[in-house]
Amino acid sequence: MDEGTTTCPPSKGTTTCPPSKGTTTCPYCGVGCGVDITFSDGKPSAVAGTRSHPANGGRLCVKGSALHETLGHEGRLLYPQVDGQRVDWDCALDTLAERLAATQREHGQQSVAAYLSGQLLTEDYYVANKLFKGFLGTPHVDTNSRLCMASAVSAYKRAFGADAVPCCYADLECAELVVLVGANPAWNHPVLYQRLKAAKQRNPLLRVVVIDPRVTDSCEIADLYLGIAPGSDARLFTGLLAWMAANGRLDRTYLERHTQGFDQTLSAAREDDVSLAAIAADCDIDPERLETFYYWFASQLHVVTLYSQGINQSSSGSDKCQAIINCHLAGGKLGLPGAGPFSITGQPNAMGGREVGGLANQLAAHMDYDSPGAIDRVTRFWRTPGLTPSLPEGPGLKAVALFEAIERGEIQALWIMATNPVVSLPRADHIKRILAACPLVIVSDCLANAEILEVADIVLPATGWSEKDGTVTNSERCISRQRGLLPPPGEARHDWWALSQVAARLGYAEAFAYHHPAQIFAEHARLSGFENGESPAGAEEAGGPWRVFDISGLADLDREGYDALAPIQWPVNASAPAGTPRLFVDGCFATPDGRARLLPVRPRAPAQALAARYPLRLNTGRIRDQWHTMTRTARAPRLMNHRAEPFVEIHPRDAADAGIRDQQLVELTAPGGRYRARARLAKAQRRGELFAPMHWNAAFSGRAKVNALIQAHVDPLSGQPESKHGAVALRPLPVAWEATLLVADDLAERVDPRPGCDYWARIPLANALRWQLGGAPESAGRDWLAWLAAELPVAVSQWSRDDARGRLRASGIEAGRLRWWLLVGPPASLPALHWLEQRFARGLEGDDRRRVLAGCDSGAEDDGAIVCSCHQVGQRRIVAAIRAGDTSVEALGARLACGTQCGSCQPELKALIEEESAHVDA
Ligand code: SF4
Repeated sequence: MDEGTTTCPPSKGTTTCPPSKGTTTCPYCGVGCGVDITFSDGKPSAVAGTRSHPANGGRLCVKGSALHETLGHEGRLLYPQVDGQRVDWDCALDTLAERLAATQREHGQQSVAAYLSGQLLTEDYYVANKLFKGFLGTPHVDTNSRLCMASAVSAYKRAFGADAVPCCYADLECAELVVLVGANPAWNHPVLYQRLKAAKQRNPLLRVVVIDPRVTDSCEIADLYLGIAPGSDARLFTGLLAWMAANGRLDRTYLERHTQGFDQTLSAAREDDVSLAAIAADCDIDPERLETFYYWFASQLHVVTLYSQGINQSSSGSDKCQAIINCHLAGGKLGLPGAGPFSITGQPNAMGGREVGGLANQLAAHMDYDSPGAIDRVTRFWRTPGLTPSLPEGPGLKAVALFEAIERGEIQALWIMATNPVVSLPRADHIKRILAACPLVIVSDCLANAEILEVADIVLPATGWSEKDGTVTNSERCISRQRGLLPPPGEARHDWWALSQVAARLGYAEAFAYHHPAQIFAEHARLSGFENGESPAGAEEAGGPWRVFDISGLADLDREGYDALAPIQWPVNASAPAGTPRLFVDGCFATPDGRARLLPVRPRAPAQALAARYPLRLNTGRIRDQWHTMTRTARAPRLMNHRAEPFVEIHPRDAADAGIRDQQLVELTAPGGRYRARARLAKAQRRGELFAPMHWNAAFSGRAKVNALIQAHVDPLSGQPESKHGAVALRPLPVAWEATLLVADDLAERVDPRPGCDYWARIPLANALRWQLGGAPESAGRDWLAWLAAELPVAVSQWSRDDARGRLRASGIEAGRLRWWLLVGPPASLPALHWLEQRFARGLEGDDRRRVLAGCDSGAEDDGAIVCSCHQVGQRRIVAAIRAGDTSVEALGARLACGTQCGSCQPELKALIEEESAHVDA
């Protein structure tokens, strides 16, 4: 079908004429900040934090404040495709429905599955869950949230009888002690971190403890840092429980009235040597610091323990979360202002997915398959009786097991929405091969270059942030509206709409007759209250058990009410019409007897064992300025400047042992995977341990999918993979040359310098595309001038060669503007490029031609690597200011503006100040 041929009507966004202002919610992390967007000439021109939003009160981090720069239709997926051919929506939906039905006829109803995402809105999630579980009769619906917080979910359910986060963000501000364990909010939840930092400044008695194998930027506000050995968290907290018991620090009244299981739990903790010396040795920390932590935790009532992927992404993640919860229950540190075990989610709507039942072990609305009467109740609510197939009778396969079932041929069709499992799952490269062999892969996505599209049979263009319309729930159970403010491009459509259309084609039109997300939300809200007692006392009368997740108070919202919905924390029902900031304040839990459960925990080592061949422990994680697989954040060039290339952080002595210098190219290997990146020597790393970011993928670098190095070991209860505990080998990458090539934006698509390179990174800049390249000795003789002449549409204008230093510089200038620029040289000898990149934006003047060829070696205007992304202030300028006497973050802010907007770079500014002071002292 040719470009213009389609029978689809024009796209129907919620709004076809952009307003001058709009309020929505940030699509990145689980903090869930409110965002105000300003439009000019119909285009988003600025963003600001929503002052009235309870999560952020007007703040935004650097990612949030660059949101308007990530919009635009460039690179968007615009049309449906079937088997690589553009088709209209009717054809795509007909084909999709026919193939799904044929798969089920031939291979059984459970041969089809869905893999969803915490990027979806609750309404999309709800419809997907309802279609697959309720009408297709397959339980195999899972989500990438499995990779993020499934262990926290399973622990909350075991301990409290419900997947219910008891705390709220305000608890961080009224606590006496905040323990950050396995979390680096300074980078990953920056606005929440800023709130905590401000609270600490207001109240110097508020203490912060950071527990993490790495010294992260969150240590900036730490009163105590415990750099524990990876995987020793459970031992630390079982030891804490034993210490509390031994030192008379238990809340016996709370334990007796509100819990069960304490005695067995304490006995299990005491199976190990519970002396401080033994625990400190197992955690590889100083016993005095350990005792200080134990004393602080035990002696304060108002303690919040904030934890995230560092705890969850483990083959014993559920038990680690439970060990934390045990200590809170034992001390009665729960259900009070400033107290509780607080799991913070990574994704913007991981919580919404949990609410609808988007995890394979859930059914719907916080009911599991084995919840009493749940299958019957949900069947009656969805009116599926008599339908064939009926609801599944038991849970489905969790993410890793789901893909293994595809490999075995048990699942023959998979619908993937808003996620990229060929990048994010363990054994990422293998996952791609599995999907390539799967008979039917349907992908709903926003972007035309998403790697997952390479394995898709049917492609559906989805709406993206600022076009989607619905709700999300953040880490503190706060439901906020994400509003459709812009019309979708091309034929992009909402996911709930595509799902409903497929449902209609399969004969379920009546049950999926949705015309607006408000209808879906209202149905979701009704289901949450359906036969739900609101409290243990009312359960019998309501005909069902008490379920904490209850938003029945929002079930009657009409469309206007839905559009105007202000952020509100669930439960929202007749008893709590204004929402509920804090749970379990009366000590009554959602278990059959109303008591919370303490459960025995036995610490276990990571399943990925170190060995002579793979002797180093690999920690994977996020970085400050990027989000997930960079599909959105890489569209804002200023977010690419903080860490432009994939990297590995290595302790300097480990680097020396391996013969590796700072900024050298290196390679990590593990069974089935390789990762190539630039070394960053960091004393923040423990010896024998490495850190690598999770973001890079085939769109941005050659071999930098870090999940290709992670083996498929999961927590037995939650199914969450052990992404924080890889076992790898490290070596220098044997490159003989490196090159930097900058190409003006309008020429970028016409040049592909990757062939013949052993390393490449593609780095979008504001006015050009930067390629960072490296090659083995065999390719050192490459004739670059011939290559430039053949590949680039603008001829070589000037070049110089320094054979003694092995350097070649060349550039192409057209009509007084720089069009491309190349430097080839020995490894790790590249200049900073900020100055040069700016020459693509404006014509060359004065001495610029000479300086361009020289690679701006004079450094007069060069800023160095960017530290403050908001104001684009580089390290060189900051160091110069420090040397000139600006030796505080405030002074630097006053002079350079760095650190004055979102504040995310303040820890780095502090570190530079300390580094410079150390030089002076030395
Ligand atoms: S803290 Fe999270 S939700 Fe808030 S602006 Fe930053 S990325 Fe967005």
